[in-house]
Amino acid sequence: MKPVPGILNIAPYVAGRSEAPVRGPVYKLSSNETPLGAGRNAIEAFTAASVGLNLYPDGSARALRQAIAETHGLEAGRIICGNGSDEILHLLPQIYAGPGDEILFSAHGFLVYPIATLAAGATPVVVPEPDLRTDVDGFLRHATDRTRIAFLANPNNPTGSFNTSAELRRLRAGLPEECLLVVDAAYAEYVDAEGYETGAALVASTPNTVMTRTFSKVYGLAALRVGWAYAPAGVVDAYERVRGPFNVSAPAQAAAVAAVRDQAHVAAGRAHNSRWRNWLAAEIAALGLKVHPSVANFILVDFDRTGPRTAAAADEFLASRGVIVRAVSSYGLPHCLRISVGSEEGNRAAVAALAEFMA
Ligand SMILES: *Cc1c(COP(=O)(O)O)cnc(C)c1O
Repeated sequence: MKPVPGILNIAPYVAGRSEAPVRGPVYKLSSNETPLGAGRNAIEAFTAASVGLNLYPDGSARALRQAIAETHGLEAGRIICGNGSDEILHLLPQIYAGPGDEILFSAHGFLVYPIATLAAGATPVVVPEPDLRTDVDGFLRHATDRTRIAFLANPNNPTGSFNTSAELRRLRAGLPEECLLVVDAAYAEYVDAEGYETGAALVASTPNTVMTRTFSKVYGLAALRVGWAYAPAGVVDAYERVRGPFNVSAPAQAAAVAAVRDQAHVAAGRAHNSRWRNWLAAEIAALGLKVHPSVANFILVDFDRTGPRTAAAADEFLASRGVIVRAVSSYGLPHCLRISVGSEEGNRAAVAALAEFMA
């Protein structure tokens, strides 16, 4: 059986390393997971859901959409839920693009975008990314009348950089009307930078913008796979026809409802993150390594391109010390490592191991 054109051009998603060859403690700083874990209320709701495992979930995720709407001041009818935001990011190209259509994303953008583009049979258009920051004008230069979707992660993974509200608005205004702008705000809760906006207001004020969010990061529910998006009515209507009828499991919905109502846990995650992200960045820079500015829950660090101190050598060395980080060659950054902000012990272990590597 021969897959349809495009499928075999997909480079399979390479997940970060998740094991280290050591006996002692292992710190997994490779997947941008929260070191705080899920909130207690979310865990209790998940556990309580175990009595109903024989029942199908609410296919419309009504309680979850309502809880999200109340928390964020949005319209429940314009919220869609997915099996992780991955599902939404995958289905949008299938809904809006096909052979001959183009989808824009940044050179060091999230790896799911090229996969979702090729899976829909559409043509990826990669916009160069000077200074490891999404170039809005580059997006506009690469847009054509065949461009159906522009994916922009804000902040971006793995660079940690972000685009300002003014840039976002300039991008939307300059893209063709028939091009959907998808703002992937997976790390929005962590951002406290001046000039940042999640994209929700742009969704409300334009007919062709979608903002995606996730419960996998600050909420600590990555294992459950829950994401959502705020979208124009037409996008909601199309998505609801295409998605799996029971795409978000009942325990996942229950946990997510409790999680979104527990903004104290989000605040704790945000506070832990800004403190330790700044500490990690300063300590690693003090070792003589270049640390790219980040507004998210990870930092991107440059290593030598040749010689004994390459990113690959550092990756191996850190793993030998029980510190697992993310090699990002598949993002076109073979000389970098991405390090997630972890627990205090994890962060200290990462800096100690890097100091040993650099010595
Ligand atoms: C982690 C991440 C997501 C979240 O994916 P889920 O499927 O919701 O777990 C989305 N976009 C980016 C850029 C991410 O880094």
